[in-house]
Amino acid sequence: MNDLIQKAAQDLVSAKKAIALTGAGISVESGIPPFRGPGGLWEKIDPLEFAHIDAFMKDPAKVWNFFIKEMKELLDNARPNDAHKSLARLEELGIVKTIITQNVDGLHQIAGNTDVIEFHGNFAWQRCLDCDERFETIKLDVSQIPPRCSCGGIYKPDCVFFGEIIPPHHLLRSEQVASACTIMLVIGTSAEVHPAALMPVIAKQAGAKVIEINLEKTFLTQKTSDYIIMGKAGEIMKRLTSEVERLL
Ligand code: NAD
Repeated sequence: MNDLIQKAAQDLVSAKKAIALTGAGISVESGIPPFRGPGGLWEKIDPLEFAHIDAFMKDPAKVWNFFIKEMKELLDNARPNDAHKSLARLEELGIVKTIITQNVDGLHQIAGNTDVIEFHGNFAWQRCLDCDERFETIKLDVSQIPPRCSCGGIYKPDCVFFGEIIPPHHLLRSEQVASACTIMLVIGTSAEVHPAALMPVIAKQAGAKVIEINLEKTFLTQKTSDYIIMGKAGEIMKRLTSEVERLL
């Protein structure tokens, strides 16, 4: 693994334009469980029953009680871990230009990254299904479920549920940065959620190097990634960033 970290550090230092695609795995060390993989939420609940827009529209109280309320508690208290901080340091060093994240936890921005494309939106805000008003999730009173806006409408997290479309400007910009980068770090994603999982494929087809960091192999590992560094995102990213700093 040491050899691969050195190789990745050299690749990053010589890269003209590095970007990162991140998934739920990067936030596991911040105490937020992923959907898939060991300890994932899917071991406890059925995604189509709780994270699909049809399920929310059919029974918002059920989805709030068994899924969103728990996510709110976790996300309200989560702080960036070493992987988020390392990506912020790599931006400071002028190496990582943009992050495309599938996460809705806002931890990249808290860590200090300034160009973050939130592919699936952000959990920090709720939107009223009736009047469209936005309200900050952290200030939301969840003693009554489902929480309601002053107009009486139900709040839904302002992020993309399964069955909803990706905001077109996020999709377009992600495709642009993916096709223009020379290296893509792909950190903590199972690459099972589309179209986010296509971004490394777009990068690869445009000639970029794709480096995966994950606990386990994914759909990308065989055909798309140049190599995978297996381990915890926080540990690997911290060591990788120290090595980059040593080489600069
Ligand atoms: P996923 O849950 O499908 O897969 C998680 C991946 O992370 C797995 O491949 C797993 O092996 C890996 N992983 C787990 N712990 C890791 C660690 N410590 N270090 C490195 N890798 C680790 O995640 P996904 O691909 O992002 O897709 C799921 C969808 O769920 C996303 O679209 C996202 O919107 C949503 N989600 C977001 C959050 C969050 O905002 N933090 C949390 C859960 C789910």
